[in-house]
Amino acid sequence: MRILVTGGAGFLGSHLCERLLRDGHEVVCLDNFFTGRKASIRHLYDAPGFELLRHDVVDPFKCEVDQIYNLACPASPIHYQFNPIKTTKTSVMGAINCLGLAKRVKARIFQASTSEVYGDPDVHPQPESYRGLVNPIGPRACYDEGKRCAETLFFDYHRENGVDIRVARIFNTYGPRMLANDGRVVSNFIVQALAGEDLTIFGDGSQTRSFCYVDDLIEGFVRFMAQTESVGPVNLGNPTEFTIRELAEKVIGLTGSRSRIVSRPLPADDPRQRQPDITLARSLLGWEPKVPLETGLRRTIEFFRSAPAP
Ligand code: NAD
Ligand code: UDP
Repeated sequence: MRILVTGGAGFLGSHLCERLLRDGHEVVCLDNFFTGRKASIRHLYDAPGFELLRHDVVDPFKCEVDQIYNLACPASPIHYQFNPIKTTKTSVMGAINCLGLAKRVKARIFQASTSEVYGDPDVHPQPESYRGLVNPIGPRACYDEGKRCAETLFFDYHRENGVDIRVARIFNTYGPRMLANDGRVVSNFIVQALAGEDLTIFGDGSQTRSFCYVDDLIEGFVRFMAQTESVGPVNLGNPTEFTIRELAEKVIGLTGSRSRIVSRPLPADDPRQRQPDITLARSLLGWEPKVPLETGLRRTIEFFRSAPAP
């Protein structure tokens, strides 16, 4: 198949492009390089079937493809809050443009939605039936509400126009090719530990997250796109939950760093806890994450040790 990946030069996008090429597909990688980097996809340039388009999903575009994965959107809080209006536009206009294209060329289309649609959840772990607790006017709203509106658009195009959608709600994922300055907790802690700097815990570090290694997640994407039983939404993530303090201690242990842990103020609306209920993904896709946190952290540490300084 020929497959369009929007946001293909980003962290998840670059791994997805790589996987799809390995599976024998042609890949059109579309990106505006806001948080994506050519360095993340340069090794694919010579692959037969790889094509790169510099474009912004906010503006309409045309191409003949069999499938679309819509990943374009900055994912880390510092990047999506840098220009919050643009973030909402990217999610909403990007969804409209991708769905319009999918409708025209009759392509199956995947939406990279997020656990942020659950906000700061009061149901734990979060099943797909939970409707969330999102502050619509807070600093995270540009991302959370943008993604919620994108889900609405996907389901309306499905109901109204028969577009063949797949909506996945992705929980915190980490791995090689995260940006060193991207502000997400795993990359921050590893970069700090390797530089011998203090690890910055926001708040008291008792908030929890569940971290999925990127290869596991991409396997979930591909399985979800291949099946025809459900359009979603389906949670994809690793249900093993850690506190942020536990994560900091693990990173210090695995890097052998002499860094200390320090406390910084907790950002507004920072969710207290997050853990996916993946019952649906298990039964629908026969999928569950395989890579334990320590193994994934070792691989990610290795990436940052050998990566050129940004
Ligand atoms: P990322 O920031 O590394 O990648 C996003 C990519 O989209 C980048 O290459 C960026 O340049 C591109 N992009 C941003 N705005 C664009 C625009 N207007 N037009 C074209 N390209 C644009 O983030 P990621 O971690 O790879 O996340 C990919 C997708 O998965 C995002 O939609 C994100 O919301 C979703 N997601 C990721 C996670 C995670 O833990 N990584 C969790 C939940 C959801
Ligand atoms: N966090 C932290 N120190 C950092 C970066 C993040 O303690 O240097 C915390 C952050 O407050 C949040 C958790 O780690 O509670 C996960 O943050 P991230 O930005 O990676 O993802 P999200 O909050 O979107 O799940």
